[in-house]
Amino acid sequence: MKAINQVGPFFDEKEEVNLGTTISRRWLTEGLWTKKFIQGCVRVIGEEKILPAPNGSLGLYLSLLALELPKDSEVIVPSFTFYASAMSVVFAGLKPVFVDVDAETFNIDLIHAEKIVSSETKAIMPVHVYGQSVNMEDVGKFARKHKLKVIEDAAQSFGVKFNGIHTGLYGDIGVFSFFADKTITMGEGAIIVTKNKKLYEKIRLLRNQGRPNSGTFIHESIGLNFRITDMQAAVGFSQLKKLAKIRRSRNSNLKLYKKFLKNEGDIKFHSPSIGSEYIPFRAAITTKYKEAIMVELQKNKVATRSFFYPMHLQPKLIKYKRSENMEVSENLYNKGVCLPIHTDLTETDIETICEIVKKCIK
Ligand SMILES: *Cc1c(COP(=O)(O)O)cnc(C)c1O
Repeated sequence: MKAINQVGPFFDEKEEVNLGTTISRRWLTEGLWTKKFIQGCVRVIGEEKILPAPNGSLGLYLSLLALELPKDSEVIVPSFTFYASAMSVVFAGLKPVFVDVDAETFNIDLIHAEKIVSSETKAIMPVHVYGQSVNMEDVGKFARKHKLKVIEDAAQSFGVKFNGIHTGLYGDIGVFSFFADKTITMGEGAIIVTKNKKLYEKIRLLRNQGRPNSGTFIHESIGLNFRITDMQAAVGFSQLKKLAKIRRSRNSNLKLYKKFLKNEGDIKFHSPSIGSEYIPFRAAITTKYKEAIMVELQKNKVATRSFFYPMHLQPKLIKYKRSENMEVSENLYNKGVCLPIHTDLTETDIETICEIVKKCIK
């Protein structure tokens, strides 16, 4: 059997051509492609105030800096997320406080959040995991009630709307990642989205050495270099044109998985929240046969991934743990496995993967 990667970017000659023009133009820093890429993102998201960032992790960090929360303020973060959500909070001099997630949608559990919110809590970071949106109307209500800023980790939800509004726009700031395994990619890269003009201007200075334009040496604000290259943007721009196709392909791949694995053992698929669009990030399933499935697929050269290891159990984050067990997050790690869903897969590939999965359950 041929090797199947866990992720695979949807590339063709377009990316090569665009990269080639960047080189021949001899302009490698933020330039024409960056401008076009941002304009493309504006069309997808429906908001003008978008800035590029080197990657999602630094995008989240920069956004938290821009919010200027008092040092050591608490930020509510779901325990079921990628490490960077929590680490951006730590790097910004703030304290992550972890809450559990919903067992079906894997999204932040606001009932749990209600129990741990305190006078020190100043922000909440909903994470749109696996290509769907958190119920942002509920998050909005919670945030208004407790006077919290909302920063959306939208690393995995580019192209995904909740009740007709793009993720990243409900909160004060939203961050999308374009790392190699994200919905669309530029290798490394991200964008920061906000509807707030002041925050936009602040981030614009913070990301570019404290000045609105390069080439001047009076720096009105603090700032460092959080820019991207035009090479990244050239790739990103061609990727934007493929978003519709990626959306269709991933949804039809997921459908095939659901067909081939229907009523197989205890297998459960991730289910997006009601009101959310879905561009499946992985074919995310939970089953007590996780280990066996991962071992067997590895033997057959199919790359899998486990789910996230809970933040409240991470060696360097355990000190922030507040509540007792977060059973859902722990259970998801124990049972969760991601199967590949990228655009390179054929129906036969998926059928073969499912045959191996079924063998493990029998
Ligand atoms: C990928 C990811 C990030 C970090 O983005 P990078 O671009 O890899 O730095 C943060 N949060 C989540 C949920 C992610 O999936």
